[in-house]
Amino acid sequence: MTDKTNLLDFDRKSLEAYFDEIGDKSFRAQQVIKWIFHHGVIDYPSMTNLSKNLRSKLEENTVIQPPEIVTEQKSEDGTRKWLVQLDNKNSVETVFIPENDRGTLCISSQVGCPLDCKFCSTAQQGFNRNLTTSEIIGQVWIANKALGCFESGKRMITNIVFMGMGEPLLNYANVLKAINLLTDDLAFGLARRRVTVSTSGIIPEIDRLKDDTNVSLAISLHASNNELRNSIVPINRSFPLADLLAACKRFSEGRDDDAVTIEYVMLNGINDSIQDARDLVKCLEGLPSKVNLIPFNKFPGTNYTCSDMNTINAFRDILMKAGIFTITRKTRGDDIDAACGQLVGKVASKAARHQKQQAGLI
Ligand code: SAH
Repeated sequence: MTDKTNLLDFDRKSLEAYFDEIGDKSFRAQQVIKWIFHHGVIDYPSMTNLSKNLRSKLEENTVIQPPEIVTEQKSEDGTRKWLVQLDNKNSVETVFIPENDRGTLCISSQVGCPLDCKFCSTAQQGFNRNLTTSEIIGQVWIANKALGCFESGKRMITNIVFMGMGEPLLNYANVLKAINLLTDDLAFGLARRRVTVSTSGIIPEIDRLKDDTNVSLAISLHASNNELRNSIVPINRSFPLADLLAACKRFSEGRDDDAVTIEYVMLNGINDSIQDARDLVKCLEGLPSKVNLIPFNKFPGTNYTCSDMNTINAFRDILMKAGIFTITRKTRGDDIDAACGQLVGKVASKAARHQKQQAGLI
């Protein structure tokens, strides 16, 4: 680790401000961003269009330092999972899911998670800290590197989902800068619908996200009444269903019909009855949305099991008949524990969670 400023912590605007501060022109910042994200170059001597003077000034005061990959696992279905070391105590996981028409990178935003959703293995290990912008955007950079994209010029990562470890909207400032880089043509240049922020429902930040970005939103709903949602997604006690759905409506105003995706994990005997499906239809009235049913992925220590296929299909049929576009998400990377809710990484200490929980949120 180093005390030098890590340029990966800046989006374009803040990097321009930094260059201004050190007495350089803002277009130099743009050149540096292009080197990093278009060419995969993070060593100053290779940045040949910068003056020697500027390069040595940058060398002296700054670094361009993504986190490091410690291990890589490959699933039979082509999914790849990387364990990413952030510092000597903390690591997170990043997952690449190739499909015929796209490649999705699932990135983490926190070490562990403070939200304590009962069916998620990340929750079990507690929360340690927020990722910095360099650690968030760095996952995308090192995935591109590992996939050979900088060299080949092939765009294998076409979609980004904030569905790895952590609650992205509890790390708003850093996630926002990472989103800016993901959607900036000088950096990764992804279209807004190809970047999805998934949240358990931190309402004030959903409103901010609408004001600040054009990205898509996914809501981890998982229940269609407050009593059940309070028990499996405890943040619901602070941000109850009706308020959350109203926030989704605000978010979708003036956007494409599919700007909001509703995620619903299928838990055997818990939230998967016909009545649950009907209640969900009622909840979603007036909200342009599509639903992703996620088969529950097991992990050590959980008592939950996944609903059987017939139950999932019956649930889906009720939604579809009500005119709600619904898909059952394919489980990918299960053999390497890379599926939704199975990511663990490494948290410094389980006790840290209790010290660092966001006061009053849970
Ligand atoms: N904190 C964010 C990102 C979490 S992970 C959020 O809550 O949306 C992305 C999705 O995986 C969420 O919908 C989450 O609820 C779901 N998930 C968590 N554990 C799961 C499990 N064991 N099986 C299936 N999906 C799970």
